[in-house]
Amino acid sequence: MLPALRDRYAELQARGLRLDLTRGKPSAEQLDLAEPMLSLPGVGVHTDADGVDVRNYGGLDGLPQLRRIFAELLDVPVEQLLALGNASLTLMHDAVAYAFLWGVPGSERPWGREEKVRFVCPVPGYDRHFAVCEAFGIEMVTVPMTPDGPDVEAVAALVADDPTVKGLWVVPTYANPDGAVVSEAVARRLVSMPAAAPDFRIFWDNAYAIHHLTENETKTANAIDLAAEAGNPDRVLMFASTSKVSFAGAGVAFFASSPANVAWYKKHLSVQSIGPDKVNQLRHALFFGTADGVREHMRKHRQILAPKFAAVTRILAERLGDLGVASWTDPQGGYFVSLDVEPGTAARVVQLAKEAGIALTPAGATFPYGQDPEDRNIRLAPSMPPLAEVEVAMDGVATCVLLAAAEKAAHATTP
Ligand code: PMP
Repeated sequence: MLPALRDRYAELQARGLRLDLTRGKPSAEQLDLAEPMLSLPGVGVHTDADGVDVRNYGGLDGLPQLRRIFAELLDVPVEQLLALGNASLTLMHDAVAYAFLWGVPGSERPWGREEKVRFVCPVPGYDRHFAVCEAFGIEMVTVPMTPDGPDVEAVAALVADDPTVKGLWVVPTYANPDGAVVSEAVARRLVSMPAAAPDFRIFWDNAYAIHHLTENETKTANAIDLAAEAGNPDRVLMFASTSKVSFAGAGVAFFASSPANVAWYKKHLSVQSIGPDKVNQLRHALFFGTADGVREHMRKHRQILAPKFAAVTRILAERLGDLGVASWTDPQGGYFVSLDVEPGTAARVVQLAKEAGIALTPAGATFPYGQDPEDRNIRLAPSMPPLAEVEVAMDGVATCVLLAAAEKAAHATTP
């Protein structure tokens, strides 16, 4: 087995590939879908539907015309939704920064004056959430992901007992990387569970709310409403963006929450900025027109993305299906497939792939501090390369998974 796999791997290396499955970027073909936006709003078009001149200062909350479209899509009242800059990651980072400097509504003191601040981090998870925690010195406590979202009993136990637990990261729809969708029951429990910290917050990162890969357009549980019903109206901070709807580098990011949290966010934001880029917001509003316009646009993304995801799961099933050396997710939306290989071999798989010209996300990236305790999880991001390249890359990845597993088995039996 091992010699045959070594031969196959040598053939793979001999092909001199240069393929990249590292990050969840939209492909050029997807970006082209929004190309007409580049000529919007157009010379002479500079007022929004409410008569606001978008060229001028002001409008801290963002353009109402655009907020109305995304309030419908994100299922939040328009007054509780802000349309801001180009990256939701900035808003998440700034929410943490504001909390550290000034506390959030309900804080006894700024988080930065606490002896210790902990966040619950479901794993595998999004590396940039972990990077924000690391930058602020937040201690990360991991809980496992399940197909219905974070292991809610594990989260509830940590949050109930430990007043240093101030936050929880959740990607409620098509999570990065495992594609899990938070069920209504899990959402209810998360917003209603008792918390030892009076200022505990859920960072509800709804990055993939409308990024469906099938006709079944799953609706995200409405955590903001459910939290209010449960008597914890200020528990949820929601983030979203059009990074993977319009342009990844030039979209619009959104923040939604309770009235008290929105007022808190705006109070601090108003010191930083006189208002967001309303020209870009008008460009978005004119291009999409309505919430249905956005939904229609996302179906075009789906047509490009779905065959790539189908290729990933088909090739993994063909090459690894019955061998018991790996398992993987079959996401119904979002940007990633989560691949679990033989424990102790993920870093080796990534190294083998690299040496064969296939770049994968570093092993461990889906865990805090880049450390997967079992060295098992690999995040696959098939959106960027053309379909034919995804197919070649995945066949190569399968060879690397098999070779790493065979090397491990050979090592285990060597006296
Ligand atoms: N959240 C998640 C879960 C993501 O996967 C990504 C993009 N990789 C982001 C946020 C980044 O969003 P934005 O471009 O709005 O900063």
